[in-house]
Amino acid sequence: MSKRALNNDDNSKGKKLKINHWSRGLIEAAKDPKIIKHEDSYTYVILDKYPKAKYHYLVVSKQNIPSIRHVTKSDIDLLKHMEKVAKGIKEDLLASNPDYNFKIGYHAQPSMARLHLHLISDDMNSPHLKNKKHWNSFTTNFFISSENIIESLVEKEVVSLPSEKECKTFLTKDLRCNKCCYVPKNLSYLKKHILEHLGK
Ligand code: AMP
Ligand code: ZN
Repeated sequence: MSKRALNNDDNSKGKKLKINHWSRGLIEAAKDPKIIKHEDSYTYVILDKYPKAKYHYLVVSKQNIPSIRHVTKSDIDLLKHMEKVAKGIKEDLLASNPDYNFKIGYHAQPSMARLHLHLISDDMNSPHLKNKKHWNSFTTNFFISSENIIESLVEKEVVSLPSEKECKTFLTKDLRCNKCCYVPKNLSYLKKHILEHLGK
């Protein structure tokens, strides 16, 4: 693992990520042992405070890396470790929820400070999922699998991420069911529709 500081402020490297009080939420959460579901030398795992599906966890790096946009090839081992942690939790969840599918990946343009990996079930059934941006951030190419991130770092030695313009396009795309070809009139139709996939 690279030797960046643990738990310091996220001011390493010059890349832009506005870090204000709100966006430090994940760093602050780590200070509360009650919130931490799992911890090791490199990561802590917390429940997403505003889950966008039935199961939604965040694997947060202890190393001082602001976001996925700031990783370099020296972080490959850390990213592999974060993926391994997420896969371990996924296996535990699958043992009691065999009908669920899970995705492990990063938002192309994260809003919260400190590198974090999402582990999320693909039901997308949550009262916290309130707008198109929420839906599209997990169901379009705005969500990049951990495997793809690691592969691009290993092969190209840089992390390939969509541009700001591409991110905007992903987030403003017309809504579409993530499990079939249904195109809803609006989010409330989609929210009713996804219940059919859950047999509700
Ligand atoms: P992103 O930065 O877009 O990759 O996603 C940040 C995630 O953090 C979102 O899924 C939020 O629901 C979640 N979140 C925001 N504030 C907190 C907090 N204080 N504790 C835990 N999760 C949070
Ligand atoms: Zn559908």
